[in-house]
Amino acid sequence: MARLTRLALAAALLLALPVPVAAALPKPVADALRDAAVPVAAVAVVVQEVGAPRPALSLNARVPMNPASTMKLFTTLAALELLGPAYRWKTEAYAAGELRDGVLDGDLVLKGYGDPKLDYESFWLLLRQLRGEGLREIRGDVVLDRSFFAPVAGAPGDFDELYLTFPSEGVLVHTNHFLSPRFSGRDVSLWVMPDSPFRLARIATAVAAPGALSLDTFRLALADHANHPSGVCCHPDPRSARLDQGTTVASVLMDLDTKTMWVADGHPCTTPYRELDYASFLSKPASVAAG
Ligand SMILES: [Zn+2]
Repeated sequence: MARLTRLALAAALLLALPVPVAAALPKPVADALRDAAVPVAAVAVVVQEVGAPRPALSLNARVPMNPASTMKLFTTLAALELLGPAYRWKTEAYAAGELRDGVLDGDLVLKGYGDPKLDYESFWLLLRQLRGEGLREIRGDVVLDRSFFAPVAGAPGDFDELYLTFPSEGVLVHTNHFLSPRFSGRDVSLWVMPDSPFRLARIATAVAAPGALSLDTFRLALADHANHPSGVCCHPDPRSARLDQGTTVASVLMDLDTKTMWVADGHPCTTPYRELDYASFLSKPASVAAG
């Protein structure tokens, strides 16, 4: 663990050179953040020399933040220790049919094991290797076997697997992933929206702040831009492919005591909430319950 800490600190020091002595960001960093429209509140930095009693720089040190790319040091170190530096991922190819005179009378099955280095060039080499084995023509399909990652249960499919989540201190916060410790499936929503736990932490921190909870508490929490553009108030990330971009399309607040609802038809950071009265809607008999 000491080795991990030193590694992480070394990375932080490298990124933060020259080491500032104040508890504010160095001007070039502050300028770069401003140019990128990243609010200072969305950044947390701790720079501390190994063995030093206090950090040289500490900004938003206790605020939950999405980790920067230096976190890859931890996964790299874990991979080196668990798998070893000589580890090679494999991708298997199977002929599901008879290969005669270079013609495969059936499907070619490619079974993957999550090789992160299987890029275009490696795939081309794999195809060359298959050619070297005598494969010239495939009469069937190319089938991708992803069973190594199965079974994937993102959403339990029946009512036997419903789990209750209870409020903490009178507040129940939820984003886009499973929270119940009883849920034993593989939560694919974390693959699709890996920022979901971060958003959960941001909202939980906002509503746990000292003082009485008000609608403004929730308005501010829902307009939070930490980890912009993938914050609680989510904006399209121009660095992502268009179909991978997400955005907040609406924001809703409800006061259950006064039966009042506020809706922002867009990003809550810029779209004003308009008030809706849904008391008459609730006073109607519920046909489902009555049936
Ligand atoms: Zn916004």
